[in-house]
This record gives sequence, structure tokens and C-alpha cells, in this order.
Amino acid sequence: MAYLTQPDYVKYICSCGQLKPITNLYFCRHCLKIRCGFCICHEVDSHYCANCLENMPSSEARLKKNRCSSCFDCPSCFHTLSTRATIAQPRQDPAAGDAKIENKQPKKMYYLSCFNCRWTSRDVGIPDQPVASGGWPERTNPFAVRVNQLLEYYKAIAQQEKQEKLDRERKKFAIRGKYLTLTDKTGLTGAMARNIAGLPSSESSSSAIANFVPSQASAEVEELPEDYHTQEVNLKQITSMAQRLRAPDSQPRLAARLHPAARALSVKRSQRCRACDHNLTKPEYNPGSVKFKIELLAL
Ligand SMILES: [Zn+2]
Ligand SMILES: [Zn+2]
Ligand SMILES: [Zn+2]
Ligand SMILES: [Zn+2]
Repeated sequence: MAYLTQPDYVKYICSCGQLKPITNLYFCRHCLKIRCGFCICHEVDSHYCANCLENMPSSEARLKKNRCSSCFDCPSCFHTLSTRATIAQPRQDPAAGDAKIENKQPKKMYYLSCFNCRWTSRDVGIPDQPVASGGWPERTNPFAVRVNQLLEYYKAIAQQEKQEKLDRERKKFAIRGKYLTLTDKTGLTGAMARNIAGLPSSESSSSAIANFVPSQASAEVEELPEDYHTQEVNLKQITSMAQRLRAPDSQPRLAARLHPAARALSVKRSQRCRACDHNLTKPEYNPGSVKFKIELLAL
């Protein structure tokens, strides 16, 4: 039996000439050939969270920026964070008498904790939450406005290029005296058709391009603080490069600024034979009931 973690001492020649261990090989039943990851097509089938196994279609995943909304990774060691419950004692109010306190039940509160490195959401001052799932405060990207501007600008450029290509093609056909596009047949103008289809008009995209302010390089930078080179470094308070790059939007320098990172979604791929277009493996939509298709394994 071959395991995915097995060291690849024995390699087999794939039909494309690559040497691969048996765990990386597929067998196409239709061409009766061995195929490897190099000579098949990889297609994204669906997105899912590897922690809570929640499935979502690609459109929803894009909307959520390919992150799970209920699972978080430790910003310190990148292990998955667990939700822990505590009992919060009702705070004693000196103005109210003892009688009032008796009515208050101790409340269950939740915080995030890492079982690997003992980091907790309390370390960075995130308040405990009354519900176990979700509701964790999100840190907004300080450059969100600029990022959205850039996105809009590139979308407008793409739209404009598409339109130019369409116009060029139409001209080509108009010269030959043929009307091939729907808009020419029905007498609709391009702007009307876009309006009906709910696409942004070319005017709005051209205004987005006109109003765009490009970034300017500047030679002036802020001076470093005076004690920058003499100050003693406390490595416990400073984040590592990996920790900083894990949160590319904020890139926290201090450990006190770390924030739980929403878990990135994984994809399920289906593999297709490049020669005959048949599926080699297809993932199950529901990850809870994965039945590995044994007959499709080269083994
Ligand atoms: Zn191959
Ligand atoms: Zn999840
Ligand atoms: Zn951790
Ligand atoms: Zn094939």
C-alpha cells in the first residue's frame, strides 16, 4: 500500500516521460495510459474550509475573499485556533444592592485560543464574545480605499479593451455587409444593451479611468526615531517576518498588534486527461462523505 507521505524511492515513467512516484500517478481508462500531474488538466471544482468542512460555490468564495468566516488561524504559529468557553462573573455594581446581583446568572463567554503555542485572543485585547461562532471583530485594511480604487481602475481598463475589440470586430463585418452581432440586428445601441444586461456603461468606465490618480514616488521619507539603533530589541514583543507577511494588509511589527487570521479556503480539483478530455478523478461535493474512486487510481 502506498501512502501520500511515502518517500519516493521508486519512480515510474509517465506516458509524458516524467519520473513520478506512484502516489502522483493517475490512470486514464479511456486512453489506457498512465498520466501524471504534469500531463493532465487541473480544474477547480469547489471551495471548502479544511477545518469546518463547509462547502461553498466559487462565487460565494470570491465574495468572502477565499476565507472561511467561522475559522481562524493563530497569527503567531499559524495553527488553527479553537474556541474556548469561560464563565464570566457578573460585575458587582456598588450602586445596586446585593439583591440585584443574585438575579444575574454567570454568563458564558468565548475567546479564541491556540493549543499549539498558547496564544489567545485575550493577549491582544480582543474582548470575549457572547456567542461561540462568529462575531469576532474584524480589522479593516488601512488601505481599503486605495485597493478598491485600483480594482475599479483595472476593471474599467478591461471593460474598455473588451469594447474596443468588439468595435473592431464589428467594423470588420460591417465592411463585408454582414450583421452578425445581436445589437446590429435589433437596432439596439451598445450602451442600451449594456444597460439591459446590467453592465456598467462605457461612460462610467471612462470616467473611472479619467478620475484615477496614479501613485507618486517620493524621495522624502519620515525620519527614524533617534534611539532606533541604540534601543534594545525585545524579541518577545516583535513579530517574525513570517508573522508579518501572514497579514499583508497590516503587517504588524509588534506582537501586541497580531490579530486572528480568517482561515484560507482550500479547493477541490478535478483532474481531466488532456488527450481524451475524460475525467480522471472528480471530488465529492460533500467532504463528509468522501469516497475515493479506487478504480481511477493508477495503483
Ligand atoms: Zn505525465
Ligand atoms: Zn471553516
Ligand atoms: Zn499558535
Ligand atoms: Zn485519456
